[in-house]
Amino acid sequence: MKVYSCETHINHALDMLVAETKEFPIMEQLNDEEKLSTNCSYCEEKATYIVSSK
Ligand SMILES: [Zn+2]
Repeated sequence: MKVYSCETHINHALDMLVAETKEFPIMEQLNDEEKLSTNCSYCEEKATYIVSSK
């Protein structure tokens, strides 16, 4: 499972992933190319982070 998130929604994204997977999430920053082409999963902002489970 992977969730993209902006700065505003990173805490929400982490909470959602933990709730759904029951695992500790891995948070990484997107590279510049990915930032430009990826929107936050929770709003219309550009994503800054990707949160994933193993
Ligand atoms: Zn957002």
